[in-house]
Amino acid sequence: MTSSALNLDELTVQRDRALRDYDALVQRGLSLDLTRGKPSARQLDLSDGMLALSGHTAADGTDCRNYGGLQGLPELRAIFSRLLQVPAGQLIAAGNSSLSLMHDSIVHALLAKLPGAERRWVDEPRIAFLCPVPGYDRHFSLCERFGIELISVPMTAEGPDMDVVERLVLEDAQIKGIWCVPKYSNPSGVSYSDETVRRLAAMPAAAPDFRIFWDNAYAVHHLTDTPVEIADILALCAESGNPDRAFVFGSTSKITFSGGGVSFFGSSPANVAWLLGHIGKGTIGPDKINHLRHAEFFRDEDGVVEHMRRHRELIQPKFDMVDTILTKELDGTGLASWSSPTGGYFISLDVLEGCARQVVSRAADAGIALTPAGATHPYGDDPRDSTIRIAPTYPDLEELELAIAGLATCVRLACTEKLLEQAQ
Ligand code: PMP
Repeated sequence: MTSSALNLDELTVQRDRALRDYDALVQRGLSLDLTRGKPSARQLDLSDGMLALSGHTAADGTDCRNYGGLQGLPELRAIFSRLLQVPAGQLIAAGNSSLSLMHDSIVHALLAKLPGAERRWVDEPRIAFLCPVPGYDRHFSLCERFGIELISVPMTAEGPDMDVVERLVLEDAQIKGIWCVPKYSNPSGVSYSDETVRRLAAMPAAAPDFRIFWDNAYAVHHLTDTPVEIADILALCAESGNPDRAFVFGSTSKITFSGGGVSFFGSSPANVAWLLGHIGKGTIGPDKINHLRHAEFFRDEDGVVEHMRRHRELIQPKFDMVDTILTKELDGTGLASWSSPTGGYFISLDVLEGCARQVVSRAADAGIALTPAGATHPYGDDPRDSTIRIAPTYPDLEELELAIAGLATCVRLACTEKLLEQAQ
């Protein structure tokens, strides 16, 4: 992004116009929320059919109302196996949140030696995770909660900058993990290239218990007719002699119900046995009734793909609208650039350096709630103060139009004010 070469008079005119538009915006007394990537009620309605299903007998005759089946319903694991690129036998279907599986994986690694580990993570002098930025704030806060140090790594158009990742992982044995959202990443929409996945799987790591936290939250959330296919991390890790390196996570939170879906964990047989051994101390088995509801509702993999097509029909117009408004209001101004994702749930808006906090604060004062500036970076600190995450799925089109037009006004105001300040 290059700032437009406006002279002081022109800048003042632009700022005054933005200020007038902003005052009018505040007068409207809006109350709009673009903070989190939640499905809209209409998206949730798509899965209501699941609630009408009343069966309780699994394909192998198991009575799903009863205890047991720690690894999760086999027919549901079979449906999601290829979609998540995990052999069904190495896939666990669990409760409703993949984030809690990530949390529990870290807790168990702290308290019990991982396959290949020399000691428990809690016995290490220091633990660090690599965090490609911009990234997902809940990954970062989860690590912070356990005192795990966060090290930022820049994202490129092909995933994390692998030259940086390879160097850090090779030289620092205290780096135990890396957060990856490999497809339609939160928030940039970037998908990892085959070369990036291959290098992640094959790179030498100083820590014998280094793990890739492969959060494939948007595996089936396409916004085009040419779905992105990423390389198979588990297969590549195994081929490279690092069979235990990757933990794969996924869920139906943005497929069926965010509050009542199913989460998945996939990994090598050794890691799966390790995790099941620990999960089994805390539960006799997962909610198989919910697993069965999901399996009967989808029937097969194609059922999931078809269901996601319906989601796309509902959310694509929202992504298109954001792009149209931002283009109309900001294209060519040099004040901002933004991603045009081909899947996932977010648009990443980069405003002039040093302006993101002010944009978000101006928007809040105008009744438009955005994810806090900085949330896309470890410790909530975006050193360039530039990235803003837009979550367009939840509001209806009318509200979204108001919110994005309002946001564009805040961008024009905050950025022209900054430029004027610098020019004076
Ligand atoms: N991972 C990513 C990358 C996400 O964006 C989200 C939801 N915003 C989650 C995980 C949360 O997943 P779950 O609902 O399965 O806990």
